[in-house]
Amino acid sequence: MKNEGVVRAIDNLGRVVIPKEMRKRCRIEVGDPVEFRTEGGQIIISRAAHICVFCGNDKATERLLGQPVCSACKIKARTEV
Ligand SMILES: [Zn+2]
Repeated sequence: MKNEGVVRAIDNLGRVVIPKEMRKRCRIEVGDPVEFRTEGGQIIISRAAHICVFCGNDKATERLLGQPVCSACKIKARTEV
């Protein structure tokens, strides 16, 4: 799939569907936090690597099964397995 040529309409609430193939290529799964930022008049969407997938805080400095997690959640996940 090329990086260009996919056109989607934004609905009246400002939502737009990110094409499945682009999500797959960027390893963005359902429920993953994403980060929006603007750069040169464009909107950039990326996986929020610093957001903990469990508690949602912005201090995810570690990985658990490839997902960003904070140290408290990583310890908690290890003790609950
Ligand atoms: Zn956490």
